[in-house]
Amino acid sequence: MKGQGMETMRLFMAGLSTETNTFSPIPTGRAAFFGNRFFRQEASLQPAGWGNVAMREWRTLAEAGGLEITESLSAAAQPAGLTVRAVYEELRDLILEDLRAAPRPDIVLLNMHGAMVADGYEDCEGDLLTRVRAVVGPDVVIGTELDLHCHLTDAIRDAADLVVLYKEYPHTDIADRARDLFGLALRTARREIQPRMVFRDLRMSSSWRTPVEPVRSLVDEMIAAEGRDGLLSLSFGHGFAWADIADVGAKMVAVADGDAAIAEAAAERFARKIWDLRHETAPRRLTVDAALDAILAAPAGKPVIVADSPDNAGGGAPSDATHFLRRCVDRGLRDIALGAFWDPIAVSICEEAGVGATLPLRIGGKISRNGGLPVDLDVTIRAIRADHEQTGLSGSRSAMGASVWLEAEGLHLLLNSNRQQVFHPDAFEGLGLRLGELRGVVVKSSQHFYAGFAPIAGQVLYATSPGTVDSDLANLPYTRRRHPYWPRVENPFAEAK
Ligand SMILES: [Zn+2]
Repeated sequence: MKGQGMETMRLFMAGLSTETNTFSPIPTGRAAFFGNRFFRQEASLQPAGWGNVAMREWRTLAEAGGLEITESLSAAAQPAGLTVRAVYEELRDLILEDLRAAPRPDIVLLNMHGAMVADGYEDCEGDLLTRVRAVVGPDVVIGTELDLHCHLTDAIRDAADLVVLYKEYPHTDIADRARDLFGLALRTARREIQPRMVFRDLRMSSSWRTPVEPVRSLVDEMIAAEGRDGLLSLSFGHGFAWADIADVGAKMVAVADGDAAIAEAAAERFARKIWDLRHETAPRRLTVDAALDAILAAPAGKPVIVADSPDNAGGGAPSDATHFLRRCVDRGLRDIALGAFWDPIAVSICEEAGVGATLPLRIGGKISRNGGLPVDLDVTIRAIRADHEQTGLSGSRSAMGASVWLEAEGLHLLLNSNRQQVFHPDAFEGLGLRLGELRGVVVKSSQHFYAGFAPIAGQVLYATSPGTVDSDLANLPYTRRRHPYWPRVENPFAEAK
């Protein structure tokens, strides 16, 4: 562009992510952000992991396009409870400080989760975007890529020109959506397009799995509608139900070129489709014993995979609940693997004892009131790995920390010391356990396990148990939610004021 007499475009980018489960007992403080994958100016140069997939993509595209890059920090905390106020403010202010110090950008891109709640801030993303807008003024293009498990607020809509969400759950498309956002932001900065963005509240909370019908076709229709008839971008915000805030719930985002009415019509059309499918797409979940019965009833050959969603670390749960383990022990079941239990104390005891040792061990049930009681077992240590990893999302690696494979009376347990959901069979198999030889695998994950486990699964089942990511969405103890919502009421719009 320099050759054509145009100024070099400048990109400023930063990342700040966590998903806050306000019902989780685990605070999200300094160590959660600064102690794990915190980078300043260099996140996009690191191998792909939690938090930096989008920024890596933006750097590649910006360099290819000859943009000048200013990179601020990237901080990404494992989902848990409320973020400590001073920690959020410190991270926010570091980004703003970098922005003020940078040459004036043409484009600001922020990689965020969209469901971060701090003490005193229900909408951290809206707060940060509003402050970024105040620094750069009205003419700079501001875009943000969010997880589809986000809260879409008026503050976000008003401060940003472009909001692009992941479309897939499991989130296999983080890099694809980063490219979408970058392209739209660049065209906006070049005045080729004029984004007009609308949010449409569905007044629903549910869970939608995009690899399976009818949600698969819905996502494909969204993708097909983009780039036609003036529509630039469509996103379906599934929402993250485990936050007691005013703006929780599912929403559609539509961005049209120059004409908000086009965006309104598209958002309405897809909102209607999602509403009409609500009963068909509502998750069906088995009780703990029903899920174990299904494992026993399945033909031998390929393991039955059971998702213990309510204890998903990725939704802010402790990941040490023992409801499944307790029933497996009490029923004398064998050839079932369970994990990952977040139990760093038990892992450290195993590290001291060494591979091959047999010892009495008290496992799990330590962190939350609804996680069940610890389970005492005589375990044999089959494998220990100091820095265990698994395959993560969108081509990234996921750190499990020191981890052990334990065997007890035909049950196989994976314990880790870095609280992390199970994404992939190599969480177990990386320690030497062969899942193909088992009858069942109970994974502490809601849906991200699916991409990796579906190829080895005889069946995939979803279970409910008492837990921090409670699947009874109709009865979550909200005090601040603004509107009535389905499934708590049949018609949330009829009952609205
Ligand atoms: Zn998500």
